[in-house]
Amino acid sequence: LSDRLGGVFDRLTKQGALSEDDVKTALREVRIALLEADVSLPVARDFIKAVQDKASGQSVTKSVTPGQQVVKIVHDELVHVLAGDGGDGTLKIDNPPAPILMVGLQGSGKTTTTAKLAKRMKEREGKKVLMASLDVNRPAAMEQLQILGAQIGVDTLPIVKGEDPVAIAKRAKTQASLGGYDVYMLDTAGRLSIDEELMQQVEAVRNVANPRETLLVVDGLTGQDAVSTAENFDGRIGISGVVLTRMDGDGRGGAALSMRAVTGKPIRFVGLGEKMDAIEEFHADRVAGRILGMGDIVSLVEKAQETIEAEQAERMMKRFQKGRFNMNDMKMQLEQMMKMGGMEGMMGMMPGMKKAAKQVEESGMDDSVFKRQIAMIQSMTKKERANPQLLQASRKKRIAAGAGLEVRELNQLIKMHRQMADMMKKMGKMGKGGMLKQAMK
Ligand code: GDP
Ligand code: MG
Repeated sequence: LSDRLGGVFDRLTKQGALSEDDVKTALREVRIALLEADVSLPVARDFIKAVQDKASGQSVTKSVTPGQQVVKIVHDELVHVLAGDGGDGTLKIDNPPAPILMVGLQGSGKTTTTAKLAKRMKEREGKKVLMASLDVNRPAAMEQLQILGAQIGVDTLPIVKGEDPVAIAKRAKTQASLGGYDVYMLDTAGRLSIDEELMQQVEAVRNVANPRETLLVVDGLTGQDAVSTAENFDGRIGISGVVLTRMDGDGRGGAALSMRAVTGKPIRFVGLGEKMDAIEEFHADRVAGRILGMGDIVSLVEKAQETIEAEQAERMMKRFQKGRFNMNDMKMQLEQMMKMGGMEGMMGMMPGMKKAAKQVEESGMDDSVFKRQIAMIQSMTKKERANPQLLQASRKKRIAAGAGLEVRELNQLIKMHRQMADMMKKMGKMGKGGMLKQAMK
């Protein structure tokens, strides 16, 4: 895919705003990427439409092509859609014993995921977990859970041959209450495809257990089918979230987007292997990158944006070398500082600033101070900004009042500016010989 996109993007080298045509061309390729990643057609169509509105008219970042930028927009929108109100990596297990119902097609990874989640709750939250297999269809399914339980040190409900799933669910509930368990997990049977018998069985279990969480386990390698599976289970049983398994494989994860779009239910966990630790909370950005299959382009665009900031800094440095540093420069500095998360970031960008930075830090400055300082600079006239020496008493009063602040605070700003300007001058005199340049690297 990257190759194909690359070809299209190479032809799009125009700079400036993203034109309708740029966006269209790039989106056509993105649409194919989505379909190749097994995103269902209607979902892909809706998604592209949403992106189209966002992309048109955005200005193009220098040094990346419009096509690449569209991909970035698509990526961000994917993350946005996928993330939703998604999982923080915990399950609702208040009010013990809390029932958790695991549903899904056969072979999707229900039993494995049940054990993985049990282990996680036990280790991370210190919960006492009971697991029960309700799979009376597949031979040895119950033993499978029992073996996993022994392996991870989590109790399983004793196996009673001949019991039906509803009876097992009731017994699990009783046992969980009597045994002082925080959680009991019900691992249901699956069919190869959805059928009425399966749904009735799961429904009956749900009615008995009244689960706090109903997790639909879906094989991340199944593409389009995942949508109807999710639709059916959610419509009939009502799910609280999805677990996407086999994301360690070659699958592109397009199912995630489709299921999210169709059910609106969050993807809570991702299975990454057969081992009991191979599960993690869902990270939208990782799956988004995977669906597009082009994390490299996304990071390229991000780097380009950084470069632009670096170019701005370099321009500023040139001014400093000439001994110029006015309130406009100061304002830019303050804005940069806020963006980069305070003094540390600024010191990284402006060498030799340690002393001023320390003073600022010691005086207990934070971002709100930066904001006020920017407000004061904004309330100066153009002339004043370019020539800070103009700032005498009456002007100061007007400026402070304009920003809704005290003259005292304006004085601090002016003092800080003077110190910075001094330093710039000194550094400028040291010449282009390199100290600045070196520090810029
Ligand atoms: P169930 O029929 O839904 O209970 O599915 P199982 O839990 O028995 O899993 C079926 C197979 O898929 C087993 O061999 C598991 O080890 C394997 N499996 C489950 N989850 C994952 C995963 O996230 N990655 C990989 N690679 N294999 C998995
Ligand atoms: Mg199973």
